[in-house]
Amino acid sequence: MSSHIYINGEYFSKDKAVVSVFDHGLLYGDGVFEGLRVYGKKVFRLKDHIKRLYESAKAICLRIPVSVEEMEAAVIKTVAKNGLENAYVRLIVTRGAGTLGLDPARTDNPQIIIIVDKIALYPDEYYENGLEIITSSTIRNHPGALNPRIKSLNYLNNILAKMECSQAGCLEALMLNHKGEVAECTADNIFIVRNGKLLTPPTDAGILEGVTRDAVMELAIAAGIPFAEQALTRHDVYVADECFMTGTAAEVIAVVRIDNREIGDGRPGPITRDLKDKFYNLARGIE
Ligand code: PMP
Repeated sequence: MSSHIYINGEYFSKDKAVVSVFDHGLLYGDGVFEGLRVYGKKVFRLKDHIKRLYESAKAICLRIPVSVEEMEAAVIKTVAKNGLENAYVRLIVTRGAGTLGLDPARTDNPQIIIIVDKIALYPDEYYENGLEIITSSTIRNHPGALNPRIKSLNYLNNILAKMECSQAGCLEALMLNHKGEVAECTADNIFIVRNGKLLTPPTDAGILEGVTRDAVMELAIAAGIPFAEQALTRHDVYVADECFMTGTAAEVIAVVRIDNREIGDGRPGPITRDLKDKFYNLARGIE
């Protein structure tokens, strides 16, 4: 199937979908993005993703030249045009082309790009048995430098941590913040369970406010699982009974080893399995 890539209201095939080499998105990572999932032709939590996109844009003073409603409609139309039952959507807004200098005032015409593609998932065995991760030595961006709440096109912080975990033979890495507290993983949020209580770092730990994280918090509260947003250290992860990550691509996935240590008994725990199944059903509209 040939893909239909949206750029500023027009559709292009993969080889014709291009932006300027003077775009500040390319030159400086100046722009914002979202990653969304399509389940059974429906976009999961579209409004939440669009809200986060506009908030990220606002935080970097990037004025998106279409309304929220127009953006939602553009995503829905692009998904329909590509005809995939289940898919991953990458929505990007760049600062636009400008002169060779940082100043965003010298750019115009932000580029809105929507790509719909097949989704590459972790192999099933990881959902069954859980993942092994490491703590990266690269700390998460200081919120006073580039706030991790902004989903910007500059992902080098996460990429550096990703390289460390790949070198260690792992698929994800835990990133600590500048205070040494647990922040998040390179593309996922993190939760632990200790003594029956579900815990996740608060926003001010310097994390992206994940759409999947929000959904899992809602599911936990609805299921009566004791829950708190709380500052965590690596020690808390080491002595946790259970640990899991959440993200648009990963959904809910257990973490069973970190830094060569077993978490709990080294198997996905009951609360993790329960929330994994609940999220799986929620995303797919299964009652
Ligand atoms: N943290 C980071 C750094 C991410 O890139 C992502 C993926 N977008 C997440 C957390 C998870 O967020 P979401 O559940 O919205 O995909």
